[in-house]
Amino acid sequence: MEKPEIIMAPGPTPVPSEVLLAQGSPLVYHRGPGYGDLLREVTEGLKKIYRTNNDVLIFASSGTGGLESAVANLFSPGDTVIVPVAGYFGDRFARIAEAFGQDVRRIDYEWGRAVRPEDVATVLAETPGVKGILVQHSETSTGVVNDIEAIGRVAREAGALLVADVISSLGAVPYEGDAWGIDVAVGGSQKAFSATPGLSFVSISGAAWEATKEAKNPRFYFDWVQYRNSYELASPENPFTPAISLMLGMRAALRRYFDEGPEAVLERHRILSAAVKEGVRALGLDLSGEHLERAWAVTAIRAPEGIDGDELVAKVRRDHGIILAPGQGPMKGQVFRIGHLGNYDRFDIIRCLAALELTLEEMGYPLKRGSAVAAAEGVFAAAPSGLSTVLPGRQ
Ligand SMILES: *Cc1c(COP(=O)(O)O)cnc(C)c1O
Repeated sequence: MEKPEIIMAPGPTPVPSEVLLAQGSPLVYHRGPGYGDLLREVTEGLKKIYRTNNDVLIFASSGTGGLESAVANLFSPGDTVIVPVAGYFGDRFARIAEAFGQDVRRIDYEWGRAVRPEDVATVLAETPGVKGILVQHSETSTGVVNDIEAIGRVAREAGALLVADVISSLGAVPYEGDAWGIDVAVGGSQKAFSATPGLSFVSISGAAWEATKEAKNPRFYFDWVQYRNSYELASPENPFTPAISLMLGMRAALRRYFDEGPEAVLERHRILSAAVKEGVRALGLDLSGEHLERAWAVTAIRAPEGIDGDELVAKVRRDHGIILAPGQGPMKGQVFRIGHLGNYDRFDIIRCLAALELTLEEMGYPLKRGSAVAAAEGVFAAAPSGLSTVLPGRQ
């Protein structure tokens, strides 16, 4: 049997066997008590991770469907929204809003920059009647984690809704839905939770529910009100046939998450991220992006002079079966990315760094063998004891 490839890209992330096995169990019929319990457990688990008492809805769609649902439910054609674009996913959010006829005010950044709350404040002050700010928490294409708490304050002062794409941050990076006053936050199953792709989640504040009453954008499958009404039945349901198997997998993924403990999971992400960054620096490579201390989900690395990032990624996959992510957009060929969100432990990081060393050496880059691995081990050795950087149940 061929050995499966190891994904170290920022989603989808490797799915543990418990989750796959749960997805292979018999279907739970979606009308009636069995499914009600499943829906309730997954929703309640997500609320804990979102750190919110707001409603959380779940859709059978990839993350982008959740983003689209936010635009469809919150705004009317012609409404003005501000979209900071500092990478591939910022651009996607702007294009979704444009597709629905929003008057989109982009704030363009060089990729790798963080969104500056003061820029959002400036555009808000110049633009009358802004209904929403649509922004990434973690911009996966650059690895940058934005300060959406500060952006949320600016939005609130101006009476605009803050709609956050938390698809690659939720569960991997500190996030406080209620304390930060986030109106809408969209997550996905295939990133930090290491469930299979196909579910999106949306948390919705009271102010966001109010906005839906006025919002005239067309919607049917993603109409939030239909979902809320079915969730409020004595035995919660979905308005349409849910992705039952994916929900069984998601429940298993959340049970695993809570067994490890939310704090411990975040701490593991912090340490693994630091180990990747120290390892790469020890090879003399430069990291890309602002606020690297917050970039716990994905690390963007500049390809060294004379080496094409896309070729490096292709060679690591071909020779070692490890899938890194290439640079996107203007960073194509110039950077490559290592995803470390989700079901990873320290030996995944060490294996990845070892593969990187071997590959770079073969491509003619001068390095000292073992230096990246040694630097990562240094980070693990210095981490507080008892830290679960080795996951239970790993083969
Ligand atoms: C992965 C990702 C998405 C897209 O999600 P899909 O599930 O591919 O639709 C959107 N935004 C961010 C920040 C992501 O990381």
